[in-house]
Amino acid sequence: MRKKIVAGNWKMNKSLDEGLALASEVVNIVNDELTNDAIAVLCTPFVHLSAVSKIVAGSDKVFLGAQNMSEHASGAYTGDISADMLNSVGASYVILGHSERREYHNESNAQLASRVDVALEKGLTPIFCCGESLEIREAGTHVEFVSNQLKESLFHLDAASFSKVVIAYEPIWAIGTGVTATSAQAQDMHKALRDVLAAQYGQEVADGTTILYGGSAKPANAPELFAQPDVDGGLIGGASLKARDFVDIIKSY
Ligand code: PEP
Repeated sequence: MRKKIVAGNWKMNKSLDEGLALASEVVNIVNDELTNDAIAVLCTPFVHLSAVSKIVAGSDKVFLGAQNMSEHASGAYTGDISADMLNSVGASYVILGHSERREYHNESNAQLASRVDVALEKGLTPIFCCGESLEIREAGTHVEFVSNQLKESLFHLDAASFSKVVIAYEPIWAIGTGVTATSAQAQDMHKALRDVLAAQYGQEVADGTTILYGGSAKPANAPELFAQPDVDGGLIGGASLKARDFVDIIKSY
């Protein structure tokens, strides 16, 4: 069965104290209320990882993730963070290729392919983001565009390595805009991507791949999104900054 994951992308929000309070609240509510088999991943700013790690330590429901990672092992890369550093502070997931990183930092599919390799080599689970702009959606070439992102960044992997990757489909037009893809749009895209995965790796691997939806998901729309057969969870931005909303989204399964 596919893993059900709801990852919170805090982006560049929260002071350390605020972040610790948010993480503690999430862990407490999850412990008290979460009865389904979904897991939560808190993708905090780098500087919060070490401290948040202590809060989630021991939980079998809440895990720690980073929002980005260098493809280099170490050395003269000012401002970058390596996979070993993430491991050393207890992160087990890493978001790669978020559209904001692609847009503001020009991350390319080829560069992301290297980061995916390094993350897997170092035992981190990549949450690989893909998604189209509104222009591409309106031109009707979204399936082709997103398939190409997968092809250029992931399809060099063998099936065993690919099976460790989590995919997050995030239409750019829905991120932080308040405009959510309809559940039908999300399902259509997730199904199309699963078909692309099946063509590359076979149906069994495709059926085992967790594909998250991201883009203005909130407690009000999560139940319908998560009810779709090919939507296995969410990557949540804004709504992950409030513990109550975030856990209510996880409880939507
Ligand atoms: C995101 O940043 O990955 C995201 C989905 O943001 P939001 O939920 O705020 O649209």
